[in-house]
Amino acid sequence: MTLPMISPAPGLPARVRIHEVGPRDGLQNEKTTVPTEVKAEFIHRLARAGLTTIEATSFVHPKWIPQLADAETLFPELQDLTADGVRLPVLVPNERGLDRALTLGASHLAVFASATESFAKANLNRTVAESLAMFEPVVARAKDARAHVRGYLSMCFGDPWEGRVPVHQVVSVAKSLMDLGCDELSLGDTIGVATPGHVQTLLAELNEEGVPTDTIGVHFHDTYGQALANTLAALQHGVTTVDASAGGLGGCPYAKSATGNLATEDLVWMLRGLGIETGVDLGLLTDTSTWMAGHLGRPSPSRTVRALSANPQEQ
Ligand code: MG
Repeated sequence: MTLPMISPAPGLPARVRIHEVGPRDGLQNEKTTVPTEVKAEFIHRLARAGLTTIEATSFVHPKWIPQLADAETLFPELQDLTADGVRLPVLVPNERGLDRALTLGASHLAVFASATESFAKANLNRTVAESLAMFEPVVARAKDARAHVRGYLSMCFGDPWEGRVPVHQVVSVAKSLMDLGCDELSLGDTIGVATPGHVQTLLAELNEEGVPTDTIGVHFHDTYGQALANTLAALQHGVTTVDASAGGLGGCPYAKSATGNLATEDLVWMLRGLGIETGVDLGLLTDTSTWMAGHLGRPSPSRTVRALSANPQEQ
């Protein structure tokens, strides 16, 4: 039997763009630091599997994220992919990071904001307002350089220090990011506590306040097993950009309970079952995540990777 069996459902998009975050969000949260050549091969393999947006690395100070300290060496190794039309976004935390990224010719950039004061303080050592002020020249200069800018917004649903995050608070920071000039938002459920109704409420409120759905991506964590349900809720609302991490790499270092990013394979399995195009070859992707799990010395947490590894004839 070829799985998944395909049964389309009404009210869903025909195609979804997967924003692959494994090499950046995934590897930065893994204990093991992966050698540069393994990262380069990982990203090339992801591209061969059909992923067209692959967040490659972060130009944060190496002191903060030693796992990604090789950004300067890695990024030039990926130039053949850029020539092939693969988008390789990189995270830029500040103007120094922006300078480093632009020097290497990066054309897709991302800034990382928080919807809550507690996480802004923990992650950026700034208030929300101070962090937005820090991003203002970053986004302005990125736009001057004709780069595409994604604004990550973390803690959009719940926060380990503050509990439930009010929707209006998330909308307010989201609008500020768009006002700075971001082309796209990624709404992060950093500790994985969202449920589908909460997702749809936030999306509706964003639309109401002038943030259109086609500028919104969603970034779910599977801590409580809700990532795919939340994704489906977002697709029903019209969202067509979904973040996922190959093999379920990574998590959130500030939240003990966070078991990590939605696995790209689990996402592709559901989308394929719904008849939604992604362009991804699930077999090549699963092989890639199994190979990377070998480098990390532990099995992939992705249910789909595990199931397909046990039953490869089902692909
Ligand atoms: Mg994540």
